[in-house]
Amino acid sequence: MMVLCNSLLTINELEDLTFSSENHADYISVKLASVQQVYNATTSKLNTPSKQKAVSTPKSTKRLRFADNGDSQDHQILVTDSPPPVKKAKLIMNKPIPIAWINGLNSDHKQILENNEWLCSEIINACCTIISKQFPNASGFQPTGLSPVFDDETKSWSEKFGSFVEKGCPTVQIHHTGKSHWVTSFQSVNDQCIYVLDSFSKTFTLTPSLDIQLAAIYGHGKKHISIKLPEVQQQLNGYDCGVYSIANLLEFCFNGGTFNFKQKTAFEQTSMRDHLIKCLELGYFSKFPQSLNSCADSVKMHTRKIECGCFCGKPDILENMFGCEGKRGRVTCSKWVHQSCSNVLGDWLCDEHRSNV
Ligand SMILES: [Zn+2]
Ligand SMILES: [Zn+2]
Repeated sequence: MMVLCNSLLTINELEDLTFSSENHADYISVKLASVQQVYNATTSKLNTPSKQKAVSTPKSTKRLRFADNGDSQDHQILVTDSPPPVKKAKLIMNKPIPIAWINGLNSDHKQILENNEWLCSEIINACCTIISKQFPNASGFQPTGLSPVFDDETKSWSEKFGSFVEKGCPTVQIHHTGKSHWVTSFQSVNDQCIYVLDSFSKTFTLTPSLDIQLAAIYGHGKKHISIKLPEVQQQLNGYDCGVYSIANLLEFCFNGGTFNFKQKTAFEQTSMRDHLIKCLELGYFSKFPQSLNSCADSVKMHTRKIECGCFCGKPDILENMFGCEGKRGRVTCSKWVHQSCSNVLGDWLCDEHRSNV
């Protein structure tokens, strides 16, 4: 009994684990047993000495890993033959294992859409896959999982970046900004300019993660990339950015690889999610419904510049940079390099100045 209380989880903890592990059918029966075991242990602790004796002679011992709990520790549990408490069994049955829905998505994804939750990358990518097949002349549609995210604790980029590959015009991409937000970028066939459509912004600026992503797709070795941020239609809540990013991507595709900035879009926000579900189920995307009273406002434009001084083509913002210590006459050299691209610990010289030494 003492061993049980010291080494096992409380009922509340097990309840949490039960919910977090609900996708794993293999574990359920074992977990039921463990819940029931602790239940027994707890009740026996509450002055039921006869039960205590039964529990103290376990029939078998298993080791269980709660893999999806992010906890690599194995928990020792005891298994007996008595049935599990009805309440626990009911709770598990009320949260069924997700069933397949369409296009690799499951019932959990459908619930996200129905319950006004923030769209996950799986939904975004499933939509992009369908749309990319409808518009084979447009490039882009790369998986959003390539977005770099900055880890404030380690002060480093937590994911591999630069995995986005360069694309030719017309190209379109949905991005995770690194700050729980979805936006759409594209290069227009009309003016070859690169645009970022952000449905939730007051300042219309770019995040460092976006700088890296945009440079990888649209940089093509340029030292400066100019990005236009139009004041497009804004979402009226905090959770629909993913839906708007898909709607904007679709506008670009249906407009032949460009966007009409003479008139703001007027998506009917209340019907956007229903429309998205319908399109996913059809396996074909039609335009998102817009209000007939759409305002004729032209769209105000902001311009941002991404500096990519280093020869590697990645943005300056990535990390500390070294300036070349060489001089042309009395003028200091203007070349810059990322610290990790410089391959030196002290003063760095560009190729030209190194060959002059
Ligand atoms: Zn570099
Ligand atoms: Zn130099």
